[in-house]
Amino acid sequence: MSNLRFRAVEAAAHKKAIKVLSPSSRPSSYFAYKVFNREKMQKYLPKEIFEKMIDVIDNGVRLNRDVADAVAEGMKTWAIEQGVTHYTHWFQPLNEGTAEKHDAFIEPDSHGGVVEEFSGKLLVQQEPDASSFPSGGIRNTFEARGYSAWDPTSPVFVIEDTLCIPTIFISYTGESLDYKAPLLRSLHAINVAATEVCQFFDTTVKKVTSNLGWEQEYFLVDEDLFYARPDLLLTGRTLMGHDSAKNQQMDDHYFGIIPDRVKAFMKDLEIHALELGITCKTHHNEVAPNQFELAPIFEDTNLAVDHNMLLMSLMKRVARNHGFRVLLHEKPFDGINGSGKHNNWSLSTNTGALLHAPGKTPEENLRFVVFIVETLKGVYRHNGLLKASVLSATNACRLGGHEAPPAIISSFLGKQLSTLLDEIETADTKDSLLVKGKRQLKIDIPEIPELLIDNTDRNRTSPFAFTGNRFEFRAVGSEANCASAMIALNTAVAEALADFKIRVDNYIKSGKDKISAILKAVREDIKYCKPVRFEGNGYTQEWYEEAQRRGLDTEQSCPEIFKCYLTEDSVQMFERMGVMTRKELEARNEVKWETYTKRIQIEARVMGDLSLNHIIPVAMQYQSALLKNVDAMRTVFPHDKADQLGERNFRLIEEIAERSSIIERSVEELIEARKVANKIDSEYEKAVAYHDTVVPKMEAIRKQIDKLELIVDDACWPLPKYRELLFIR
Ligand code: ADP
Ligand code: MG
Repeated sequence: MSNLRFRAVEAAAHKKAIKVLSPSSRPSSYFAYKVFNREKMQKYLPKEIFEKMIDVIDNGVRLNRDVADAVAEGMKTWAIEQGVTHYTHWFQPLNEGTAEKHDAFIEPDSHGGVVEEFSGKLLVQQEPDASSFPSGGIRNTFEARGYSAWDPTSPVFVIEDTLCIPTIFISYTGESLDYKAPLLRSLHAINVAATEVCQFFDTTVKKVTSNLGWEQEYFLVDEDLFYARPDLLLTGRTLMGHDSAKNQQMDDHYFGIIPDRVKAFMKDLEIHALELGITCKTHHNEVAPNQFELAPIFEDTNLAVDHNMLLMSLMKRVARNHGFRVLLHEKPFDGINGSGKHNNWSLSTNTGALLHAPGKTPEENLRFVVFIVETLKGVYRHNGLLKASVLSATNACRLGGHEAPPAIISSFLGKQLSTLLDEIETADTKDSLLVKGKRQLKIDIPEIPELLIDNTDRNRTSPFAFTGNRFEFRAVGSEANCASAMIALNTAVAEALADFKIRVDNYIKSGKDKISAILKAVREDIKYCKPVRFEGNGYTQEWYEEAQRRGLDTEQSCPEIFKCYLTEDSVQMFERMGVMTRKELEARNEVKWETYTKRIQIEARVMGDLSLNHIIPVAMQYQSALLKNVDAMRTVFPHDKADQLGERNFRLIEEIAERSSIIERSVEELIEARKVANKIDSEYEKAVAYHDTVVPKMEAIRKQIDKLELIVDDACWPLPKYRELLFIR
């Protein structure tokens, strides 16, 4: 047993859980220990500076240089006490993940020594030479300048010896090159639009916040097994591998007992996460073997996005200490569930939650209905865009795979809420109870509380489901930056609310009372967005056909779906809401297509190498052994008898020969398809070529390899099999 696979299997089997030393104190005492949060600000900043900072954070007041200098000084003192020597502007470039460039605090003094220096200037702005980050052509390499600028609404934190400063990343000419800048703009847009609509109901509402509570799914794989799989190492997923006889059929992993090694990892991870202010709340096994989930308590969307990015990198680091690798790829293993990142989204005001029923007054209940309906309207009008916002080469492997939502965006409301909307819609405008004024409104609207109290029905197949006090956007990929989905969603809802407000104002101007005007506009929107409401099973072919009839976006090809960002509807929406310009959108799409191509290109190369260097030689080796056996049999038995006894051998020899030759031919075609695609100039067309001509070849090759895995002698198969990868002891 000399092959790498068996050594890895053996090593994995003998690993024991690492003892995690938890800080002796309770979580509440080390929570956010590594974050320069309000509490630390109060301690390390002069009183008037602290107050100014709070104004900057809470009320969006502009930060001036003097304040920045004073804040930097306080931060430095705190950081040096933490043993920090470096600082970095931490940002979220378009190639997913996060980026950082570390600089030491030291500056030369005038006597040949150094002093620890950190000024407001360094805190507020940096100019990383970031020419190698994707910019979709906005920043030519000769104009490599990109600026990172501090986002004071997200607190600074410490990782090891480095002070990390959350920043936005923009080009010399002001276009955003990251996720954070447009996210902040979309949060501003929804704040403005939603606050104005809230004012119809309650003039004490001054601010509306978008909240996000993500649920992060992931797989763990033993690190020795991981290294024995070049495909996992280089692409994040297995490009081949036959189903394990047992995988998730028994549903015995979900909420099952967590293996000791994994428990130790989770504990370690949560301690680190809590220190960074991430409120890890639940963890459990997921449906697939080796699949787990972690969810924090929801918070303001900007912070939640940062925390998710931070958690993903933290996971990778902590996993290494436990002999694991984290797989964040949306579909690491065929035939079992992939990983998503449910984005639980809601809105709240300075006075309370907006998507929560029952409210205390009839007006609050009507407001609830308005926000539900306008959310649906935004989701309906931009359903293609929302799909584009969650799609990637990797998430495309998962969506529509009979385990995750289909690649069609619809919304599940649950029977009670759905019935309520139907009732409001069909109520006779003139005579209905609803429009006869507040007194009778009181009779009708308070039905909502009872209707919603036991709204516990769930629909796991819906990509955008209402779950009582929030919408759960389930189509987001496990590897993605949540910001992408949140930018699209918040902007779409902001636009719907802004339009709603204009119409209600007009109805009021034309003589309607406020409640009647609101009801009229809400009814129009209930009618308008009806096609996006779907309560049935989203996994079926019937739904696909029905969705087409309804005019929902049913496109399945990832590079085509990206085009939704550039439709007139999308560009107008983003520009009008002040979130992104046409130029930014075009540049981002270039990056999306280029990234798509690169990921498939890498996969195709790895597939080719593994086929020719790992699989075919082993299949040949086994085939030779079979041939030898046939010969040997003929030396012992008469030929007829030998051939009869060796019938299975003949079949296998033939099957191996046929499958191997298909693989060889397909690899040649795969290489040829890549060559043709690589010559295409347009990033869009290149991505389409990769999707249409390269991906199908890879699938065809995989099919042959997976069959070979079943017939070739297990003792010479080179790659750890699913049954070995998927069950941590
Ligand atoms: P489930 O698996 O049933 O969806 P979880 O407990 O795993 O539930 O995750 C629920 C997620 O929803 C958590 O991240 C939680 O913080 C979040 N959440 C709960 N209420 C809200 C809300 N009002 N707005 C946004 N997110 C919320
Ligand atoms: Mg959930």
